[in-house]
This record gives sequence, C-alpha cells and structure tokens, in this order.
Amino acid sequence: MTTSCMFCKIANHESKADVVYRDDEVTAFRDIHPVAPTHILIVPNRHIESINEMKPEDQPLVGHMVFTAKQLAAQEGINEEGYRLIMNTGPHGGQTVFHMHLHLIGGQRMKHPMG
Ligand code: 5GP
Ligand code: ZN
Repeated sequence: MTTSCMFCKIANHESKADVVYRDDEVTAFRDIHPVAPTHILIVPNRHIESINEMKPEDQPLVGHMVFTAKQLAAQEGINEEGYRLIMNTGPHGGQTVFHMHLHLIGGQRMKHPMG
C-alpha cells in the first residue's frame, strides 16, 4: 500500500469508486473520465507502479487481470462486438497514474487501431 496512491486507496476501500468487481487479487472500477460507453480499469490490489516493475512471479496476476477484463466484457455485453485492452506504460506510453492498470474500453467502434 502506497499511502498517496489513489488506486491503492480504491483497492483498500479508502476512496470511493464505481467498483464493478473485486477479489483477493484485483479490483475493477469505472474510469472517472470514460472515453467510450464502457471504460473500466482493472488494477492489482497490491501496488505495482507499471509493467516495468513487474517481477516474474507477477505473471499469473497479470493473466488474472486480463481474464477479469474478458469476464467483465461479457458482463457489459460488449464481448461479441469487441473491445480494447490497454496498459499505458511510462510517459511516452501516456501513463498518468503510476499504479499498474488495464483499461477495458468498448461499446463503440474504435477510430484507429492504435488510438
Ligand atoms: P493512464 O493514463 O494512467 O493509462 O490512465 C489513468 C486513468 O485513470 C485515466 O483514464 C483517468 O481518467 C483515470 N482516473 C484517474 N484518477 C481516477 C480516480 O480517482 N477514479 C477513477 N475512477 N478513475 C481515475
Ligand atoms: Zn497504488
């Protein structure tokens, strides 16, 4: 737990969010500034800054984040038409919150394959 980290606070029930799923490993909640009809963030409950800080033992956790996204896509009814999963990493990747997170974005056709 990093005390100043907003996503740690959401995962630890210390800050409010529109949580759509949680378990022992991950928390999923709606993005505060959605870019599409469905925009959910899936975060590990444990603070990991970005993919750059991933350790070999974190590989199942990241797999679980992706599997959670897949299940939420079905729950949101966007699985058949499709969706996009994004993990922005570092300044050039456009990362603004330095607690690793997976964006699940869908409900509309994306304008461009890369953004
Ligand atoms: P990044 O740019 O780091 O990939 O994505 C960070 C995302 O977190 C942004 O889409 C932003 O709208 C979202 N976000 C930032 N602060 C909060 C917050 O306090 N609550 C929620 N629900 N989303 C947030
Ligand atoms: Zn954190």
